[in-house]
Amino acid sequence: MRLRENILKTWLIRRRTVQFLMIAALLLQRFEEDFIAGNLSSMTISGLELSDPLAVLQYILSSGNIYLPLILSSTLILLFYLVVGGRVFCSWICPLHLVFEYTDKIKSRISGADKSFGISTRYWVLFLALAMSLIAGIPAFEVLSPIGITTRALVFGTWLGLLSLPAIAVFEIGFSRRGWCRYFCPIGAFYSLVGRLSLLRVKINHSLCTKCQVCKKDCLVPDVLDGPINGKRKIVDSGDCTNCGICIDVCPEKALKPGTRF
Ligand code: SF4
Ligand code: SF4
Repeated sequence: MRLRENILKTWLIRRRTVQFLMIAALLLQRFEEDFIAGNLSSMTISGLELSDPLAVLQYILSSGNIYLPLILSSTLILLFYLVVGGRVFCSWICPLHLVFEYTDKIKSRISGADKSFGISTRYWVLFLALAMSLIAGIPAFEVLSPIGITTRALVFGTWLGLLSLPAIAVFEIGFSRRGWCRYFCPIGAFYSLVGRLSLLRVKINHSLCTKCQVCKKDCLVPDVLDGPINGKRKIVDSGDCTNCGICIDVCPEKALKPGTRF
């Protein structure tokens, strides 16, 4: 029965496949740098340059240079996330999210502190990262970010950098559920702004929904499901939804499905 339940979690399987492929791609370039080179801030795959828009914004602010190829490569990525959902970066691409999904399972099994730092904190961190880039003349968050440190560790084998992961994991398990992603990560903040406008959305069929709240129990940002479950929204329209598909997998009534905002 348990195995059957897991097999039915098709969105989880798809997402795990993409998450592990991304990690494999980062590791692959240690052997195949002609085909793939770079990290999650800027990557070249078979000659195609792709850049993270927030990293490019920091580069422009820190250097004062507007380099057209970087603008074009980040516009491609921005358009992609405007279609699939901004925080798709978080749940499908970011290697930290993968780790913290498992620490979240540990946290949910042990009761304990769940300190809120306020959702607006991450927007202040985003503002600070951009301001520091402008003032200090370096892409500030790129240098300090646990995501950058982790991807550099995977790409260059600087494994000591991975120590930031257990530090955040202890913070999340001990003090604040999903604390880094919810309250501090400026990349999540940036992509949640993009996600407010994005096309692909989880849709609800109100005639099937029994308001059992099972989806909210498993969703990593459960508040985003309030409007759809209460009948006030036909879609999950919050920029915080990561389009992870967990709610679609777990809804016993099949009331949720992927769709568009229209
Ligand atoms: S799990 Fe499905 S039926 Fe239950 S509240 Fe969520 S959408 Fe409604
Ligand atoms: S609403 Fe559904 S798709 Fe969106 S983050 Fe929550 S579980 Fe994932």
